[in-house]
Amino acid sequence: MLRRMTATTTSSRLRTEVPGPESRALHQRRTSAVAAGVGSVLPAYVTSANGGLLTDADGNTLIDLGSGIAVTNVGHAAPAVVERVREQAERFTHTCFMVTPYEGYVEVCETLNQLTPGDHEKRSVLFNSGAEAVENAVKIARVATGRQAVVVFDHAYHGRTNLTMALTAKSVPYKHGFGPFAPEVYRVPGSYPCHDGLTGEQAAAAAIDRIEKQLGGDSVAAVVIEPIQGEGGFIEPAPGFLSALSRWCTANGAVFVADEVQTGFCRTGAWFACEHEDVVPDLVATAKGIAGGLPLAAVTGRAELMDAVPPGGLGGTYGGNPIACAAGLGAIETMRTENLADAARSIGDMVLPRLRALAEETGVIGDVRGRGAMLAVEFVRPGTHEPDPDITKRIATACHAAGVVVLTCGTYGNVVRLLPPLTLPADLLDEGLSALETATREEATR
Ligand SMILES: *Cc1c(COP(=O)(O)O)cnc(C)c1O
Repeated sequence: MLRRMTATTTSSRLRTEVPGPESRALHQRRTSAVAAGVGSVLPAYVTSANGGLLTDADGNTLIDLGSGIAVTNVGHAAPAVVERVREQAERFTHTCFMVTPYEGYVEVCETLNQLTPGDHEKRSVLFNSGAEAVENAVKIARVATGRQAVVVFDHAYHGRTNLTMALTAKSVPYKHGFGPFAPEVYRVPGSYPCHDGLTGEQAAAAAIDRIEKQLGGDSVAAVVIEPIQGEGGFIEPAPGFLSALSRWCTANGAVFVADEVQTGFCRTGAWFACEHEDVVPDLVATAKGIAGGLPLAAVTGRAELMDAVPPGGLGGTYGGNPIACAAGLGAIETMRTENLADAARSIGDMVLPRLRALAEETGVIGDVRGRGAMLAVEFVRPGTHEPDPDITKRIATACHAAGVVVLTCGTYGNVVRLLPPLTLPADLLDEGLSALETATREEATR
């Protein structure tokens, strides 16, 4: 982490090594104040951010290829977000929608009902985090169906609350030691084309067979799925997988819940990733990119399912906070006026060929994949499918030292993921990508 800059990583954007002395001093203070259980990928302490650049306490400017985990799709201080937040904060900061409501909440719900896939009658309810949205989608599906079982997939990530830990696949660090977990959760195989070699139909048939053997179709309340898996490794299922599962849900009276927390809001080149497969989910959970960084989340879905929960059954003190709603409306306005779905596709068009060339050249990359601006490189031992988490870590660390924020992911920790703000200027994207190329070349030839 504290590696000195080398000739290849020197940049006019860096004044010190990253993290520099000011950040290291803050980090020291942090260790005696902040619980050790909260990690930081790159402990360079940020003082301001805009235009795809994070400025740290030492005056270094870092290129952001992570967007705070797919959150700042519209940038770190989009004018429409900042202006609406300022205006709302001056009027009032909170009343609690469950006590005395306000228009912003209603307008966010109207907007989500219109933007999410399908033209059926919809309702929405607002929360603070992705985990809360997923958990509430399950609550709604259980009430609406009168059933309890929830089906989830290998490599799934749905959050850190008790129920969503149960829905999440990976033990360390998300679940280890935190049990017991919520019951009535059943895990089945997903679709991981570069590893299982199955078509979408074959993978879905295997999953459905497992569901029917373990449970029988008539006891499933919900199938909860990320249309492209996020933390699990940016795994895009083979074509036909999602639609086969969605058809199975319809035929069996189960609720198809799309967890679009990471994939939503133009990230993959469409408003929602389900659109790439023409899948219309019964319920959609959203969060992350929804409000330019303010805590906001939602469940949106079929009116008859959503309205099955009686008044008082859903809510929370802060859910749909007025400032978060104002930010959400500003973020969605920005996505519309700046055509950020197109911008996401342009990012993919620029990055994917370069990553594929890098794979060809270096031999340490087992798969390059992604849609729009949700892109991933999977590192393997040369000539095998064996995950190589060590090289992945070294490459990420070298990017950080060069002032480029990249994140890793994957069940085996062997995936570097790229999630740039959709507003990132092309020259910064190019510079960030060059750092990843340089680091990969250096590590591949070590
Ligand atoms: C991040 C994430 C969550 C959890 O969201 P939080 O806001 O961190 O609670 C749930 N599902 C997916 C797919 C995610 O990427």
